[in-house]
Amino acid sequence: MLIQWLRAAPAVLLGVTIGGAIVVTSVIRGESSPIPTRHEVPIITVFDNYAVNPELTTQWGFAAVVMSPSVNILFDTGSDGRILLSNMAKLKIRPKDIHKVVTSHVHPDHLGGLKEYLKVNSDVEVYIPASFPDSVRESITTSGARYRDITGALQIDEGVFTTGEMGTSPIEQSLVIDTSEGLVVLTGCAHPGIVNIVRRAKEVVPNRAIALVMGGFHLGSASDNELHWIIQDFRKLRVNKVVPSHCSGERARERLEAEYKENYIAGGVGNVLTLR
Ligand SMILES: [Zn+2]
Ligand SMILES: [Zn+2]
Repeated sequence: MLIQWLRAAPAVLLGVTIGGAIVVTSVIRGESSPIPTRHEVPIITVFDNYAVNPELTTQWGFAAVVMSPSVNILFDTGSDGRILLSNMAKLKIRPKDIHKVVTSHVHPDHLGGLKEYLKVNSDVEVYIPASFPDSVRESITTSGARYRDITGALQIDEGVFTTGEMGTSPIEQSLVIDTSEGLVVLTGCAHPGIVNIVRRAKEVVPNRAIALVMGGFHLGSASDNELHWIIQDFRKLRVNKVVPSHCSGERARERLEAEYKENYIAGGVGNVLTLR
């Protein structure tokens, strides 16, 4: 069950009560820092072209922070590092509290903020698709940070996995987080296909339910027929909740909302979901 995340006080909660579970899409204020308790896994969208929290800055791109009990991960960096850092500051997430950075793919709306981010915290390991150009590796090592080339699926920390490289144009990796509520599949742009990514996640961590799929679904140009079959596949794969944002497409968001009803969560910058 998704739970309300109330550690920050005072907080303005723009949450909605959904089928007994409370999903918080919140504005975190005050002096508290969003440090999770031991078994909570907050996932905070820190960069998006959609807004959940109007106090944050929107721009085309995506980035999210995952705080598992053992590691804090920045997944993607948006298109502009200054906006990324400003949004993180408003959400009380200190750049130096991040241990690992995972970049989904080479497009500038996901990679564009990396250089600026590494200027304020180079004490991180950056997980990049091995297909990345050497210029990205140079930029990472010049900042003082370390990189790790990813090809196949890999456990990158306790309960946190990458799907490994998928697709071709461009090659992309997605994040899979194993929580007690089930798997969270976190995508950048889902260029390899959102259904293919969910299938891969189930192979990487077998015999686990899919608690939620979140991020860019890349369905902006999908026809109604294609959307119909994607939703059918999601149902077959037992995707419990969906949080589409970034490049998911307006029509896809509408169709997913109509289908998933209370299990649809509108993604956007400032969205805070906490799983147990
Ligand atoms: Zn892309
Ligand atoms: Zn994108």
